[in-house]
Order: sequence, then C-alpha cells, then structure tokens
Amino acid sequence: MRDASPLPPNNDGLSRTGLRCQCCGRLADNLAADGQYFAIFDDGHHRQLPRLTGGPFRYKTFASDYLAKSKPYATKPLKQAVIAPSMLSLLYPLDGVLDGYSREQFLSDLCDEAEKDIRQTFKAGAARVSIDFTEGRLTSKNDPRNPWTGRQMLEQFIALNNTVIDRFTAEERVNIGIHTCPGGDMDSVHSADVDYADLLPSMFSMNAGYFLLQLASEKDKEYVYRLVGEHSRDDANGVPQVCFIGVIDPLNPTVETPEQVADDLVAASRYIPTERLGSTDDCGFSPFSIDSKPKHGSPDFARDVAFQKITARVRGTEIAAARLHL
Ligand SMILES: [Zn+2]
Repeated sequence: MRDASPLPPNNDGLSRTGLRCQCCGRLADNLAADGQYFAIFDDGHHRQLPRLTGGPFRYKTFASDYLAKSKPYATKPLKQAVIAPSMLSLLYPLDGVLDGYSREQFLSDLCDEAEKDIRQTFKAGAARVSIDFTEGRLTSKNDPRNPWTGRQMLEQFIALNNTVIDRFTAEERVNIGIHTCPGGDMDSVHSADVDYADLLPSMFSMNAGYFLLQLASEKDKEYVYRLVGEHSRDDANGVPQVCFIGVIDPLNPTVETPEQVADDLVAASRYIPTERLGSTDDCGFSPFSIDSKPKHGSPDFARDVAFQKITARVRGTEIAAARLHL
C-alpha cells in the first residue's frame, strides 16, 4: 500500500487560479487572505477567497505554467482548465470602492489577464481550454451565510466572461469551453440543490464552442438533457455549442459500467443532436488539488478509482456511438 500523498503548502485550490506563486505559495500583490467565502459545501467545509486591497490586479501564475509541467508526461492532446473571470471578480469587495482602484478598472485589468491566460495556454500546446464556471450554479443558491450567492449575479458573470470569450475568433472559440458543476471538493458539493433551469438558459448565451456539464449525479437527468437540448445553440456567433454531458461521478467511489455510460448518452441523444453531443466527467477528480476523499477512504484509492472510471467512460462512449450508428 502506498502512503497518502503529502498535501501541498496551500491546499485552498488557489495555486491553480493564478493568485499564488507556484513555488513558495505566496499570494499575488495587492491580495490579503481574508476575503469572502467562495463556497460553503454541503458537508460544512468552505473555501475562502483572498481580498483585493488595491490595484493593479495581476495573476501570479498562469495556467500555461502548469501545462508546461504536465505536457512532458502526456501521450494525448491536453485540455487545460483556467479560472473564470467571473470567479475572480469576487475578489473585489461586494460593496463600496477601493481607494484609487475603481471596480471598472479592476474588471478591465481582470479581463486582460484572463485573455492572456487563455492565449498563453494555447501557445503552450493545449488543444482545448476550459473555463471553470463552477460559480454559475451558486449564483442562485441564496445562502445567507454567503452573501454574494443572494445578489443575482449570474447575468453580470456571463457578460464578464463573454467580454473575454468574444476577444477570440470563431475558429479559436471552437476550442474554448465552459465547465459547470455543483462543486466537487472533499466528495461534497455546494449547489446541487439549485435548479439547473436557473442556470442553463443564460449559460448557453456565452459564445463558447463547448460545454462540460455535470450530469451523472443529477437526480432527474432527462429533465436536464431537455434543458440542454432546448438552450444550447447551433450557432453561437459562428461556433456550434458541443455539449459534453457528465457520465461519471467523481465524488462517488462506485465505478460506472460502460453500459451505464452508453445508456446515458443514448438517452441524451433524444434531446441533443448527436453532432453536438459528447461525454465527460462531472467535475475534476480532485479540482482543489489533493483534497481528502472521505467517501473513497483516501486520495490514493480515489486515484485508482478515477482511472477505472475514465476507462468506463471511454468504452461506454464507443458503445453509444455504435448503438447510434455514428
Ligand atoms: Zn467542477
């Protein structure tokens, strides 16, 4: 049996977001550690954001730095996640204005940094860049312990993300996607109780070329397939929106069978055109870096399970393609 992997120095997931130094874990300039909660999960644990103390806002680390490290180990094209500008907009105080650094100037700096992050990631060799929009569903949570989730911020989040997405050509946007999920951290979620109907109609107004949608762990999958079919677009300002539906639940140690995966895809194909349908995992297997995995027993066991789940996803997708004569 292997030892559990050691935790990285700052296990708050922010090293991934560009806000911390990759080597020493220090926060970027003009940030303090005591910002608002990002999310309070169903099991009671939370993730907290830093607080912006002044301008200018700059990333400390770019996603391309991580891609450069993982690329030598890859044998297949890589997809790299980047943080959404909407998430980082929560660094600015919800109310009031910072001395000498207006909200408008901050959002303008933020969009420039987010655009740079995506361009550099492609330049470093990513085949696709996925914008992590886990905060989308949380915008309708109305959790009194977490005030921003009661401020109806979805439309402004989407407008902000589109500001960045629309800086790319249709050809580039084919490979720029959006990930949505109800959270996935320590085998727990933050917004599974929010109706997808509150999110999806607006979400597909982002001009991205593909969407990665948590679905395997949904109670009523057909309901969501229908919403996805109704609201995803054949032509999002020049790109068709490909819908990768979640067929694997990374928070549950039970390994899906290829037949289950195939059944989900065939069911989804009744609502979503097959030329815009694909499969994915509901979320990262450990999106906030190496978290504890209480339902799995340990991160090491979870890693082994993850590889079995990925195998089932690939095999199940092949079975579905054969059943649908694709
Ligand atoms: Zn996720």
